[in-house]
Amino acid sequence: MNMITNHLPTAELQALDAAHHVHPFTHNAALAKKGSRVITRARGVTLTDSDGNEMLDAMAGLWCVNVGYGREELAEVAARQMRELPYYNAFFQTTHVPAIALAQKLSELAPGDLNHTFFAAGGSEANDTNIRLVRTYWDIKGKPAKKVIISRKNGYHGSSVGSASLGGMPAMHAQGGIPIPDIHHIGQPNWWAEGGDMDPDAFGLKRARELEDAILEMGEDRVAAFIAEPIQGAGGVIVPPETYWPEIQRICDKYEILLIADEVITGFGRTGNWFGSQTFGIRPDIMTIAKGLSSGYAPIGGSILSDEVAQVISSEEFNHGYTYSGHPVAAAVALENLRILEEEKILDHVRDVAAPYLREKWLAMVDHPLIGEAKIVGMMGSIQMTPDKDSRAGFAAGKGTAGLICRDRCFANGLVMRHVGDRMIISPPLILTHGDIDTLIARATRSLDETHAALKADGLLKAA
Ligand SMILES: *Cc1c(COP(=O)(O)O)cnc(C)c1O
Repeated sequence: MNMITNHLPTAELQALDAAHHVHPFTHNAALAKKGSRVITRARGVTLTDSDGNEMLDAMAGLWCVNVGYGREELAEVAARQMRELPYYNAFFQTTHVPAIALAQKLSELAPGDLNHTFFAAGGSEANDTNIRLVRTYWDIKGKPAKKVIISRKNGYHGSSVGSASLGGMPAMHAQGGIPIPDIHHIGQPNWWAEGGDMDPDAFGLKRARELEDAILEMGEDRVAAFIAEPIQGAGGVIVPPETYWPEIQRICDKYEILLIADEVITGFGRTGNWFGSQTFGIRPDIMTIAKGLSSGYAPIGGSILSDEVAQVISSEEFNHGYTYSGHPVAAAVALENLRILEEEKILDHVRDVAAPYLREKWLAMVDHPLIGEAKIVGMMGSIQMTPDKDSRAGFAAGKGTAGLICRDRCFANGLVMRHVGDRMIISPPLILTHGDIDTLIARATRSLDETHAALKADGLLKAA
């Protein structure tokens, strides 16, 4: 058998990758020409590529490596579980210890009476569960007309047919015949891009009331649920104005609409609490979890249900499940990850050490000539590049012009920072030290300076 190892030359790995590996969310032909970057190992907050370059990973992989890379305990637990019981399901009136223990632990950590978990292998699957679950819930309650799920433009809930339908990404909706029926999208609380002359708080209320307008227009008897991320992640780390969530909560309560908080990014310490719902005072009926649940060491996600939702859905057979629902190795890894977060007091580290320092440095970036807005909650932040701070304009050369340049400059400067259009975003491991934060800010600032110089040299600093 051919062994494809880290020891092959980079060019050879790139050629094999281009020949056989189709990448997600990628123009694959363009990438094949350029060659992909081969990541070979990681420790703490640092990635190493096949040429030996080191990068500070300010995205924690894809928002998931909350405890950082290289944790021996997680590898040990996975190996032990694989030896003892590598796989079994929960379909045949059977169960196993890792799933029991993880479900119990989640009921302890999740707020309110969110005490029951239906497992999946990731966030997309969990949100597909939620679609079938909330519609079945209302069927059982004798309100079968309640089918519509309201979500938001520029929201992200995953990439399966169902979860991408919930999401509000136009580029995704343009492919593969989605959204599915009975999903309705309202506007997002993105004040920078869409707030016009309104002040942020008034704009937050306005966008929340689009939910009420939609419910009144369709009829309360047709609306099953509202789903949203406490902070939009893939949409660009959009932090809603303070007025937004209380108004959303009021509306869901008033019209008996199930509230689903998609906590796939905001869960497990990212905002300084166990869940973003606690940070924003949201009382969801269902929470979607994944990513930081296992710090990305194993694929696992799920839906945490309130007592009432679980009781209703348990009163009939629910014809739904995945081969890997509650996978024992993934569940054991998740449980160990939660133990690390808890025993090492990583949430305290976020609240008392990392987040306050990162906040101070991050918000100061608004003074950079290219930055019009800086936002941060806990350990997720965004900065908006603009050619004209006052008018909050985009770039005449098109959305993403500056973003792409800056992303490439970041890689060259040893920093993984992602761009969404011309917004640069971070979601680093929660274990960041003050020294790491200094490094992150220094590399980000250098990358912004270089981006600014490049835009200027090419005459691209023009407002749209
Ligand atoms: C990543 C993400 C998902 C999808 O999770 P997958 O594990 O990629 O299926 C869903 N919701 C949110 C908010 C996410 O960020």
